[in-house]
Amino acid sequence: MNNNITGKTGVLGIIGWPVAHSLSPLMQNAACVALGLDYVYVPFPVAPENLRSAVDGLRVLGVAGFNVTIPHKEAIVGLLDGLTDEARLIGAVNTVKREGDRLIGHNTDAAGLIASLQGDLGFDIEGRRVLLLGAGGAARAAIVGLCRAGAASVIVANRTPEKAERFVADFRSVFSGANLALSPLDILKGDQRLKGVDLLINTTAVGLDGTTFDGLDLAPMAPCACVYDMVYTPPLTPLLAEARRNSLRFANGVGMLAAQGESAFSFWTGCEPPNGLMKSRLLAVLGSQDMLDNGLYSK
Ligand code: NAP
Repeated sequence: MNNNITGKTGVLGIIGWPVAHSLSPLMQNAACVALGLDYVYVPFPVAPENLRSAVDGLRVLGVAGFNVTIPHKEAIVGLLDGLTDEARLIGAVNTVKREGDRLIGHNTDAAGLIASLQGDLGFDIEGRRVLLLGAGGAARAAIVGLCRAGAASVIVANRTPEKAERFVADFRSVFSGANLALSPLDILKGDQRLKGVDLLINTTAVGLDGTTFDGLDLAPMAPCACVYDMVYTPPLTPLLAEARRNSLRFANGVGMLAAQGESAFSFWTGCEPPNGLMKSRLLAVLGSQDMLDNGLYSK
């Protein structure tokens, strides 16, 4: 933590509701201290009904930048002064930077996911077939990252089918060359179409606190396939436990959390955070070091 706060110290932070559980202050402050940058990163609990006044407040208080987490990522889009192309395409903002008097919204989740797939699983998306679970904000970031990285096909499976239909229609109009398809979530019940999936990504909230998908059976997946779960509490989600049971390579969302944070840090400060620092701080606090030691994350 910055112990030398002065009148010149830059303020960074995160808005969310709730926000007390956020691990971003830990990893962002660690990077500021490691580089000797005169910033401090603080949590701001913002109830949904207060979002507009909070954004106005952050603007007039001169905050240098902030992250945005659940439930504000989509609602904040219309309250900012500009968006990067990435944020506009995704339709959600997880990082805001002050530029003069303007607040510019960005989204680093897509880049974070792709970086984590490469770093944690050694998985290169180009030409690969993906099964994407979910059609919310995280799924929007994922599909942008996947299509930009050259995925051969993406099957989208979501609990609410109408939402998945709208989601696929939206992105077919953006990525006209992309091969996008729909499936019920029942594909997870040992469906033979799993044989043709190179990468399964969970972007839903299922897995949090040990919740699971009904009838989960990944046995048909090919031995070289990978499973990625954006959820990281518990570190070994039921989806990842099923991947392990079938000897598939897998990783949880810790690497993505770190990588989206690294991109946000660079966006605000113009500096690269020390390599691996944010992820190691997260693994230490989540008690996941044993997974690292067992080779379940990349080193
Ligand atoms: P969101 O916009 O609210 O979307 C939630 C998604 O989860 C929807 O597709 C929803 O399906 C599905 N879902 C929720 N409960 C379900 C259930 N019981 N059974 C089946 N599907 C269910 O939330 P989000 O922003 O996309 O975030 C989703 C998850 O990703 C969260 O756990 C978040 O923490 C995680 N995430 C992780 C990172 C990271 O860096 N690791 C980054 C971003 C998000 P319906 O459409 O049917 O409601």
